[in-house]
Amino acid sequence: MTKKQTESTDIAIIGGGVAGLTLALLLGKAGLRVVLTEPHPPAPLKDTKLSGRTVALMNSSVNIIKATDVWPDLADMISPLQTMRIIDDSSKIREPIEIEFPAQDIGQPQFGFNIPNAHLRAALFERAKKQKNVKIIKAGFAAHKIVAGGVNVLLDDAEIIKARLLIGADGRNSPVREAAGIKAKTNQYNQSAITCVINHSRAHNNVSTEFHRPSGPFALVPLQGNRSSVVWVEKTQDADAFIKLKKQDFLQALQERTKDVLGRRDTGDQSRMLAAGIHQSENADCRAHSPARGSRACDVADYGARAEPVSARCSGTGRERD
Ligand SMILES: Cc1cc2nc3c(=O)[nH]c(=O)nc-3n(C[C@H](O)[C@H](O)[C@H](O)COP(=O)(O)OP(=O)(O)OC[C@H]3O[C@@H](n4cnc5c(N)ncnc54)[C@H](O)[C@@H]3O)c2cc1C
Repeated sequence: MTKKQTESTDIAIIGGGVAGLTLALLLGKAGLRVVLTEPHPPAPLKDTKLSGRTVALMNSSVNIIKATDVWPDLADMISPLQTMRIIDDSSKIREPIEIEFPAQDIGQPQFGFNIPNAHLRAALFERAKKQKNVKIIKAGFAAHKIVAGGVNVLLDDAEIIKARLLIGADGRNSPVREAAGIKAKTNQYNQSAITCVINHSRAHNNVSTEFHRPSGPFALVPLQGNRSSVVWVEKTQDADAFIKLKKQDFLQALQERTKDVLGRRDTGDQSRMLAAGIHQSENADCRAHSPARGSRACDVADYGARAEPVSARCSGTGRERD
């Protein structure tokens, strides 16, 4: 491979996911020069469609995102999480036990916000492109070498970045982490998360509902309007079977798990109702996230936690996406 040009910068960030882009914007705002590399840039925000993935960010994370100045760009997409409804649905012999936690109890208007992943990433990417201290290169990380006073980073397009610090924000299977010899501990839970966005007949009133079941949690997280995102965790083999069901059968199974909290069957308008209480479901983008590709359950349970997060000139950030 012939060597292309060399960039000199303060910070080299590998990975343009939410973690890498957020960090690039904040470091750039603080006056540091940042070069971020990402082989798969997102589509422009205006062309971004609602997919099956959303992210519920708690207030502390929202404050970090707000500090990047991207929040106004997302105004049409964000939904507050004002109440957490937790339902213990683990017993076959007794009725589910339900408890609601309003954010007011902790003196907050909301616990956080639910945001479509693709929109959040696209908005951050657009901001980063306009940030004067941030340069984005469409390429992947290939190798690095620690040198006096910094680190030389070789990209897969043969470009070299000379930086004072290399940051791996390249996801759960981080090539930077591997190249730096940073150890990671992983656990297998044999669970997968099915994700999708649904429309429903009843208002969610900004209540996020989590059913806790033996096979894993089933969460309905509010989006704007009568719409919610679903994170449905099952044993991996069961999730695979659900995802292969015909649409009608899939929606029926989904409806059963909602226990009708978001609505019931409207027999008056069959053409719009694809399943009892759930209509015009956008499950075209339903995806099963196996442990191999990540799942919320694995994520929450410290899947892929780093045992040694930092080396002299190379650091890791963020967690897995999928
Ligand atoms: C089903 C599910 C539900 C979740 N729900 C929530 C939630 O409600 N709240 C929450 O806080 N979190 C949630 N998470 C976790 C959250 O999605 C992740 O923690 C987050 O997306 C990780 O972001 P990241 O930027 O670290 O990594 P990623 O989004 O994985 O981004 C890594 C980037 O690095 C790039 N990259 C990879 N290799 C290279 C390379 N060699 N060179 C250059 N670039 C490279 C990739 O192209 C990618 O763009 C959920 C996860 C799952 C699976």
